[in-house]
Amino acid sequence: MKKRVYSAMRPTGELHIGHYFGAIQNWVRLQNEYECFFAVADWHALTTSYENPENIKSMRRQMILNWLSVGMDPDKCTIFTQSHNLYTAELYLLLGMISPVSWLERCPTYKEMIQALSGRDIANYGFLGYPVLMTADIIMYRTNYVPVGADQIPHIEMAREIVRRFANLYGESIFTEPEAMLTEVPKLSGLDGRKMSKSYNNSIMLSEDFASVEKKLKTMITDPQRKRRTDPGNPDVCPVFEYHKVFSTEQERDYIVKGCRSASIGCIECKSILIRHMEEFLTPIHEKRKKFEAEIKDVDEFLAPYQKRANDEAAGVMEKVRRAVKI
Ligand code: SF4
Repeated sequence: MKKRVYSAMRPTGELHIGHYFGAIQNWVRLQNEYECFFAVADWHALTTSYENPENIKSMRRQMILNWLSVGMDPDKCTIFTQSHNLYTAELYLLLGMISPVSWLERCPTYKEMIQALSGRDIANYGFLGYPVLMTADIIMYRTNYVPVGADQIPHIEMAREIVRRFANLYGESIFTEPEAMLTEVPKLSGLDGRKMSKSYNNSIMLSEDFASVEKKLKTMITDPQRKRRTDPGNPDVCPVFEYHKVFSTEQERDYIVKGCRSASIGCIECKSILIRHMEEFLTPIHEKRKKFEAEIKDVDEFLAPYQKRANDEAAGVMEKVRRAVKI
């Protein structure tokens, strides 16, 4: 039997190429090696967007179209919507009964997020309980591995503690202790060198028209010290070169490093190499996206068989859970 992988993404905005290289590219690889469950985490989106939930549903559709257009294949992995599996809410409630508040309060991501989002009122029960909901999501599918960044490890540790506590309290080992799957992924900064984020207007969206992408790349900042074509530059401090690390061949990078440092190539030529690669990368994604957009009128209808797969799995688990907690 293949080992299981679970991961999810919050539908809080359009997906950009940073999302692709930071997570989805890895998911596409994992779907060939593991039995994968990938969820649109719309309840999780509500923990921070509860005041403005109007976009969550349309973002879910965009997310699914993007996932499919970059190669996620529902015949190879189970793609579903978190909120359409009500068993998760039931498990979340039951796990809430056995999860000490102190565990949640000491969670480093909780403290960091409270500080990072200090302008917004997120001091709610739902936000504090986020790791418990995440635990319910993960363990429901008896997940072996969760692909995460290092910052998410405390959540996986908490999920493992909750699984052990459940087994100790009810004498039944229904769940699998999930493990974090740390994968080296290329970090892609925004066009201005800051974190890629739609709110900074420094992103390249996966569905963005190529003419707009080209314009953004042509005006992308370079080494600020390289003011004239004749000035030598430094690729180590240039955001354009960061993109070459992801998109270009080693040979091209060598050519750029030498040419930049000796001023034998200009930024226009350097960027034209990147623009060509970006076009090669985005064109097939856009073509597939067009096809899926035409095919999928109703995302629920499209997801129905995969959602059923997830929900059936959860139904079997919850029967055992109810028996264990004597409800
Ligand atoms: S030549 Fe390329 S790497 Fe060098 S400063 Fe210009 S854009 Fe950056």
